[in-house]
Amino acid sequence: MPSHRIRARRAVASPPPRIETDAGIVSAFLSDAAHVPGGFASGVAFPRTEAEVAALVAHAACVLPIGDQSSLTGGATPRGEVVLSTRGLSGLSAASNGYVRAGAGVPLKVLQQALASEGLYYPPVPTYDGAFVGGTIATNAAGAATFKYGSTRRWVEAATIVLPNGDVIEIARGETRAGEDGRFELELTDGSVAAVPVPRYSMPDVPKLSAGYYARAGMDLIDLFIGAEGTLGIVVEAKLKVIARPRRAVALIGCQDDRRAVALTALLRKDAASAWNGQGPLDVAAIEYMDARALAAVPEEVFRRAGVARPAERSVMLLVQVEVGADEQAALEQLHSRLSSAGVEQDPYIALAGDDRGAERLFNVREAVPSSVNAIVAATKQSHPGVEKTAGDMIVPFPRLAESIDLYRTTFEKYGLDYAIWGHVSDGNLHPNVVPRSLEDVRRGREAILEIARGVVAMGGAPLAEHGVGRSALKQQLLRELYGPEGIDQMRAVKRALDPEWKLAPGVLFPRRPDLAAT
Ligand SMILES: Cc1cc2nc3c(=O)[nH]c(=O)nc-3n(C[C@H](O)[C@H](O)[C@H](O)COP(=O)(O)OP(=O)(O)OC[C@H]3O[C@@H](n4cnc5c(N)ncnc54)[C@H](O)[C@@H]3O)c2cc1C
Repeated sequence: MPSHRIRARRAVASPPPRIETDAGIVSAFLSDAAHVPGGFASGVAFPRTEAEVAALVAHAACVLPIGDQSSLTGGATPRGEVVLSTRGLSGLSAASNGYVRAGAGVPLKVLQQALASEGLYYPPVPTYDGAFVGGTIATNAAGAATFKYGSTRRWVEAATIVLPNGDVIEIARGETRAGEDGRFELELTDGSVAAVPVPRYSMPDVPKLSAGYYARAGMDLIDLFIGAEGTLGIVVEAKLKVIARPRRAVALIGCQDDRRAVALTALLRKDAASAWNGQGPLDVAAIEYMDARALAAVPEEVFRRAGVARPAERSVMLLVQVEVGADEQAALEQLHSRLSSAGVEQDPYIALAGDDRGAERLFNVREAVPSSVNAIVAATKQSHPGVEKTAGDMIVPFPRLAESIDLYRTTFEKYGLDYAIWGHVSDGNLHPNVVPRSLEDVRRGREAILEIARGVVAMGGAPLAEHGVGRSALKQQLLRELYGPEGIDQMRAVKRALDPEWKLAPGVLFPRRPDLAAT
């Protein structure tokens, strides 16, 4: 019988790990993948055990837990805290009964390699697989195949968390649920009880969301920590669900325009739903979209190495992952028939299941899109200091997809901006990116993204699908657009209950007081 109470325990007594203050060591930890300038830290520590994490948290004034610092939000960029690198928490059990236990510091790439040797697979992998288990739990990360498998939340069965006072809780899914009064109670080892009020806002009904604290009546306590971006506790270890490794064919499909790409995606989503019900062979796990502007940024060399002709000027591309059983042929025949139904004229590039090198070549085209756009932004920054990546992480209910793409284009064009769009189209989750030519473009780009966010929220979607909120002033503003200032106050009440001294990841998600700006 689930309870709304959980009892914390003490960690084994241990001295805190050494805090490195040598500038040569600390300087490697002052920025995440958002490349926000000005990160600074009072030191960096590399605990190797739960006991060392607990001792560090209990002793330090302010701590920022980090994984691989691949955050695109500035959430893993320190602002004076002790940086707690989780890379020493690298334990990994053998899989047993469909689960593994992994330390927070295990990179997903390492997890996948270990699982592959046992014929197993961990599905909710973001496009960047160097991210750590703890980082992906903290951001509720999601990747292309969220369409079939959902985001990280669905795959975390249990977690060991160090609380801001150094106590430890072990949460197993199903054991601790919010009471009828909408609260959890945490019995701490000093005899006090932290009463944690579940926020009352309603979350948009979309397949992926990384927008502050999860909140539902009767929710599981584990879901409060998943996606909390390190502000409520430090994940030291988790029990993750794994599945038999699927066999996968990959198709790269050129479509003449957005209309056909959206029509084809809709058909493939229906086929996938039938296949999951055992009715049909076309088991599509993921569809990625790259618009003509994004493809134009990709160097010729990338297409040449992939053996793919550069698409015509207005064409867009879809990268489709199909999971195949015994009858791969039937799946591919149905795919071809859907191409003609959607009016797609070009033959797709296909890598059959087992052709890992062929699949990698096709994935390289997709991966070249963000890296090519980021390279343009970096080059512009050389001549226009202060220019930075300015991008949205929008998700809409799938029936509103075509409308949302129109919204992205017309808004950017209204603001006179160059832009590129790509992302996880099978979920309705796209990344509209400004390609800035000046600092003024960055300023106008932020306004455009705010306007787009309002349109997306009005469509029942969210402007924070998978990357989280972090310390980005823009993303914190988007969070306020989504839940209103009352929603943010409700999140603050959760934070205050668990971290009254504002010790963990302060300023991530929201400022301590409403009148303070994001750092
Ligand atoms: C090229 C590229 C592609 C990407 N593609 C995707 C994608 O497809 N989908 C997606 O969701 N994201 C994507 N991301 C963003 C990023 O990879 C994810 O947010 C990832 O989950 C971050 O993991 P990390 O280990 O690097 O965490 P970090 O960046 O180090 O930290 C992220 C946040 O989690 C907190 N945190 C880290 N570890 C812990 C812990 N053990 N306990 C508590 N809090 C912790 C930090 O304080 C910070 O707030 C991409 C990033 C890049 C650079």
